[in-house]
Amino acid sequence: MDQFDVVIIGAGAAGLMCAATAGSRGRRVLVLDSSKKVGKKILMSGGGRCNFTNLTIEPDNYVSANPHFCKSALKRYTQWDFISLVQRYEIAYHEREHGQLFCDESARAILDMLLAECDKVGVSLVKGCEITSISSLSGYQIQTVHNLYQADSLVVATGGLSIPTMGSSGFGYDIARQFGLKVLPQRAGLVPYTFSDQMKGVTERLSGIALPVSISCGEVTFSEQMLFTHRGLSGPVVLQSSNYWHPGETIVIDLLPGINAKNWLQLLKKEHSKGLLKNLLAKRLPKKLAHEWMMLYWVEVSEKAIGDLPDIQLNRMAEQLNGWVLKPAGTEGYRTAEVTLGGVDTDELSSKTMESKKQPGLYFVGEVMDVTGHLGGYNFQWAWSSGYAAGQYV
Ligand SMILES: Cc1cc2nc3c(=O)[nH]c(=O)nc-3n(C[C@H](O)[C@H](O)[C@H](O)COP(=O)(O)OP(=O)(O)OC[C@H]3O[C@@H](n4cnc5c(N)ncnc54)[C@H](O)[C@@H]3O)c2cc1C
Repeated sequence: MDQFDVVIIGAGAAGLMCAATAGSRGRRVLVLDSSKKVGKKILMSGGGRCNFTNLTIEPDNYVSANPHFCKSALKRYTQWDFISLVQRYEIAYHEREHGQLFCDESARAILDMLLAECDKVGVSLVKGCEITSISSLSGYQIQTVHNLYQADSLVVATGGLSIPTMGSSGFGYDIARQFGLKVLPQRAGLVPYTFSDQMKGVTERLSGIALPVSISCGEVTFSEQMLFTHRGLSGPVVLQSSNYWHPGETIVIDLLPGINAKNWLQLLKKEHSKGLLKNLLAKRLPKKLAHEWMMLYWVEVSEKAIGDLPDIQLNRMAEQLNGWVLKPAGTEGYRTAEVTLGGVDTDELSSKTMESKKQPGLYFVGEVMDVTGHLGGYNFQWAWSSGYAAGQYV
């Protein structure tokens, strides 16, 4: 049996950050990962450039049953702490819109940096390791196919369920349940919508077209690019809104964000009274979208001059342009989702240490718990901050 102070399950973003932090405090740390290649999600993130954090990190950028839980960890290890680590390793990076920070070259630099930080403080790492059981007689016993490990603290950093081909598993949730912790239902987040009604054909025909829109889902509104795809709707604004969407709900799309469609149509009526509606709409919308939209809802007036339309009809059209109500059939699911919503209930954990309130020595960090960030580097920042928080105490 090999003895450690801390065993961490999962060598992803949160697990490696936790390992390096605990190791720097002189703790003997072992990280176990089922995958032969660690940090796969870091490598594939941000289109291979890893959007590793954001210049503006606020608790409002996170979805959780307890919106206050993330505050303490985010305050104690901030985006500036991670940026200064990146700078110490002389990793070149740049800012994109909305304060998103990406590597200039490759996400590999972030993974190499974390592995170097672990190496520096003597963290042991076992890859391709299958854990068969966990018990807690005195401390924790972690049985793998080849070995038995004993540790005072056990950190679960197994991530979420998204992209099953990347080594994702529900193992972290199983461990939580084994020790009596509540696990909230999971669903795919930061994921495109799919449609089964007449919108299916519409999105197929418009596939490849992108435009700036606002999407509201319940109380929350995002404004960014939307992309029509063969399968439905995607693009940053769609992914953002998907974190707030539940099956069966509608979304509301403002096709003309920042423009009062009612005033605009009235102006067109005055200035271009002989113009055909479908042509006039194409002044502000992609031509193919204007055409499809007219065919979908206003086919009987599409060949009419705007001057011939009664105001009541124009106003209805305007309302629909600023508030196009759609009901997604679902999402593309974990196959393409960037994150998993839900997970280990934060009520079960200390927001300061990430330790279980009822099972001493058991910690959860990163995506496995019910804290999910918006698109834009927020999920990695949560991995760094929660990993650091636990690393300070294990
Ligand atoms: C395509 C894609 C792009 C993304 N881009 C970004 C981005 O640019 N910016 C951003 O902030 N977020 C991004 N994310 C989200 C981000 O990758 C995750 O939120 C983050 O990696 C979570 O870190 P984690 O350490 O909790 O889990 P992970 O990084 O998923 O690590 C979990 C680790 O646990 C291991 N594991 C799982 N099960 C077991 C088991 N049974 N036994 C042992 N080990 C196990 C896995 O092999 C893995 O190494 C992206 C996600 C995807 C899928």
